[in-house]
Amino acid sequence: MTTNAADQALRERAMKVVPGGMYGHEATTLLPASYPQFFERGEGAYIWDVDGNRYLDFMCAYGPNLLGYNNGQVNDVAVAQLAKGDTLTGPSAHFVDLAEALVGMVSHADWAMFCKNGTDATTMAMTTARAQTGKRRILVAEGAYHGAAPWCTPMPAGIVPEERAFISKYQYNDVASLEATVAEAGDDLAAIFASPFKHDAFIDQALPDPAYAKRARELCDETGAMLIVDDVRAGFRLIRDCSWELVGVRPDMSCWGKSFANGHPISALLGNDRCREGASHIYVTGSFWFAAVPMAAGVETLRILRESDYLENSVRLGTMWREGLDALAAKHGFALRQTGPVQMPQILFDNDPDYRTGFAWGEAMLKRGVYVHPWHNMFFCAVMTEADIQFALAAADDAFASVRAQIGSIEPHPVVLMFLTAMAGTH
Ligand code: PMP
Repeated sequence: MTTNAADQALRERAMKVVPGGMYGHEATTLLPASYPQFFERGEGAYIWDVDGNRYLDFMCAYGPNLLGYNNGQVNDVAVAQLAKGDTLTGPSAHFVDLAEALVGMVSHADWAMFCKNGTDATTMAMTTARAQTGKRRILVAEGAYHGAAPWCTPMPAGIVPEERAFISKYQYNDVASLEATVAEAGDDLAAIFASPFKHDAFIDQALPDPAYAKRARELCDETGAMLIVDDVRAGFRLIRDCSWELVGVRPDMSCWGKSFANGHPISALLGNDRCREGASHIYVTGSFWFAAVPMAAGVETLRILRESDYLENSVRLGTMWREGLDALAAKHGFALRQTGPVQMPQILFDNDPDYRTGFAWGEAMLKRGVYVHPWHNMFFCAVMTEADIQFALAAADDAFASVRAQIGSIEPHPVVLMFLTAMAGTH
């Protein structure tokens, strides 16, 4: 019997001392009611909430968990550095080691700069592009997430239009739309941002059309603008290089975060020599950006990525999960849309415009010890095993049956309905 008493008590206390009780995408506001907000620990592929319930975790902390939570090799290195010092008056030698390791692995990169969150890296890419080109306009794909700064946050509260005065939107994978938006920018184009694949929330994922990626490169070459791939979410989950190596396109800059130190807090901007000068002139910093512990963890994580089969394992298990789920869904009379790379799956139900079936299935999975997300892409970590996938498939079989039994009486989630209405109004 699962309980959530400790989670509820924390939510009540948080409501008094934190605006809204929680914020950002880790808030459970847009998740089924039974999803826990607070967690106690993670080990390997599993997380435990504050009530002691264990879940096989298909979210991987929204990306940072790549090798497994609490990875011993990475943590040994981190703990050893912590004993010597973390945030000091300047960086440690790991700063240079880590920059060399990333430049060594990522083909387009000639240099690296470090920061703390993905938003720091994407914002720094934008600033570098403007410093390098002397131009103002930045192109981003409609619906793409590049972080929570005023220029890119998906939520409008507190943002004034002037902060986005030089941001233009194009349609991902649509060459004509990209060309038209570039033409509108005239001679003021500083950069084109692209996600490695379309991994927007609430909708099906889409792999990049190589024609679109190649055209983006050409347009940047023709105009002198910078091509930026935001690999914050997908970095090292598709390839041990920048994700657009898979379509044969090299950006000028790529943004990294979340997972290259296996969850230790660090992000990075990588760039080529076309924008080294611009990058060397911008003023960017943060009190914790040069901390030694995450850099030591990053060097060790990258070594493991180069030397292990973490990626091949995730693809193998991701395929097993996708094929197994499809068969089970069909057995229970459901059709799923499983999109994107198998190791970063988005799982949506057909004929489920207000997500009520997906939410009910998510809740049923949670009850059976598997944490899946009803509208955000998920992630595989390196230590998941075939036994884990078998466990998740058995849970899914049961969960589909339980949803099928209640199908006529499932209500939509009220906050999701409000959210979908608000989103429809913004387009
Ligand atoms: N870009 C992408 C593609 C992301 O997925 C995210 C985080 N979800 C960010 C940028 C922002 O990263 P952070 O939350 O670490 O600021």
